[in-house]
Amino acid sequence: MPPPEAFFYNKVIKILSGLPIILYNLAILPPMRIIITLAIILVALLSQLPDNRLHVYFLDIGQGDSIFIKTPNNHHILIDGGPDSTVVREISELMPFLNKNIDLIILTHPDADHLNGLIDVIERYSVSNIYLTGVANAKPEYARLFDLAITKNINLILADSQTDFKFGPLILDTLYPFSNISGNPEIAANDSSIVTKIIYRQHKILLTGDLEENGEKQLLNSHIDLTASIYKAGHHGSKTSSSLPFVKEISPEIAIIQAGKDNRYGHPHSITIQNLYKTHTKHIYNTATDGRIKIIFD
Ligand SMILES: [Zn+2]
Repeated sequence: MPPPEAFFYNKVIKILSGLPIILYNLAILPPMRIIITLAIILVALLSQLPDNRLHVYFLDIGQGDSIFIKTPNNHHILIDGGPDSTVVREISELMPFLNKNIDLIILTHPDADHLNGLIDVIERYSVSNIYLTGVANAKPEYARLFDLAITKNINLILADSQTDFKFGPLILDTLYPFSNISGNPEIAANDSSIVTKIIYRQHKILLTGDLEENGEKQLLNSHIDLTASIYKAGHHGSKTSSSLPFVKEISPEIAIIQAGKDNRYGHPHSITIQNLYKTHTKHIYNTATDGRIKIIFD
């Protein structure tokens, strides 16, 4: 990963490169408008300053997964892109003015409700790294992602549990897949999902993509630490995920479900909700009813 300073200097260069246009526009404006424009620029620039907090957003993108993270040092991470370009509107409201950099994209698995929106993001934003399994899949959008990565010189990193990412105090710990599964045509798409534990100070968030019971069993059998205060329920709250022993092991206080309003799959399933409450989950939030869910950590 490039050092944090590189991101800072990129930002400064971008701001400076925009100055001639801003100054030209100022020269043709009446005085009151100049003051208002300068105030807007100032607010926009101040909003770029790191606030020393971790911001995690479960985006309102319909039936699919998309999670956007702003780190205390203002790095941007996007985990999945949802089913369409809605994600672009969502992250444009969250990214600082003049900043088009996304440091890391994670594609948990190549199903349309996780992959398709990423194509729009990669086309419009400056993405440094894409982390994915490279599992075999014939979808044209998947081929498009690889084409874009090559033409835009994006670093592709293949997932395995030895690969973790560190952004200042934030760690993204890959728990699954245990080893490189790139090119593997056998493994079921959902059970190929990258599982990430986000660790920030004393906080832990578990993201399991669409991992189903078979994958959950593999994680349980590995005896790795699954505990997390926040759990993004696997596979949009489907009954094929969030099995009781798995949720028991995580023991979350908060569960987040990413699902679309009136989705045709009936997500989340009542069994999933029961499993969560049986294991003393205190709060369950659902993007279908709550919209974009924002969690800020000091
Ligand atoms: Zn899905």
